[in-house]
Amino acid sequence: MSSPILRFAPSPNGLLHLGHAFSAFFTWRAAERLGGTALLRMEDIDTARCKPEFDAAIRQDLHWLGLAWPEPVMRQSARFDIYRDAAAQLGDLLYPCTCTRSEIAARAAATDPDGAPLYDGHCRRHGTKAGAPAQWRLKMDEALRRAPELTIAELHVTGIDLGTTPPVTRRADPARWGDAVIVRKDTPTSYHLSVVIDDAAQGITHVTRGMDLHAATDLHVLLQWLLGLPSTIYAHHPLIRDDTMQKLSKSRASQSLRDLHAAGVTASNIKSGLGF
Ligand code: GLU
Ligand code: ZN
Repeated sequence: MSSPILRFAPSPNGLLHLGHAFSAFFTWRAAERLGGTALLRMEDIDTARCKPEFDAAIRQDLHWLGLAWPEPVMRQSARFDIYRDAAAQLGDLLYPCTCTRSEIAARAAATDPDGAPLYDGHCRRHGTKAGAPAQWRLKMDEALRRAPELTIAELHVTGIDLGTTPPVTRRADPARWGDAVIVRKDTPTSYHLSVVIDDAAQGITHVTRGMDLHAATDLHVLLQWLLGLPSTIYAHHPLIRDDTMQKLSKSRASQSLRDLHAAGVTASNIKSGLGF
């Protein structure tokens, strides 16, 4: 087997906080333990909110923490053509939807795993509003009819480390996302589409990230299957708690690493304060 490849994939729409630092240390440590490499990938599909200054600041902050990665760094904003091709590959599994957030919220009878209003399929049944900006949604029932039963290989996480037991297989349940948005109105892709394409393009073997993305994995393995991409092993670490934050700083946990640095906190204080 070739050498493990992991990644840390921040969005440069702000400065790094302690939660990001935990995720980065977790990923670098896992790469070291596995004898692999940790890559940095900038998830900057949201061109309105992502800024080159944040991109530069993230790189500096990671250096400050003592974390290094191979260059060049992949930037999703340079890959829109690839995402467009992938969306085209999904063909008639996608349909346009011109509903606004408030229209969706007003009609929703349930929520998705993130707690957002679940889409009711309005535009699939009634068509779109002429001239309105469209997002493209997955026909979930049709996608599930085509796909075999899908599973997710998950590694147990113990504290700050990947578990040593072999991955456990869990059945994926993407249906709970409903007709998920695969191409957004404001950018020619979505987090879900870009992440599966880029994990495959970079040969990622182990995806390490926070528990907040655990449920999204169900959708990711479906997209991987639909696009003919290999799946990876997943490990979701717990999100750091407020009392961990308190140990590091008397003031509020919402401080960026920059603020903590300016307040005299050292990189090694942060590392040990997070338990590494
Ligand atoms: N870009 C995502 C974030 O900032 C992380 C995506 C992932 O690790 O899959 O939360
Ligand atoms: Zn709609």
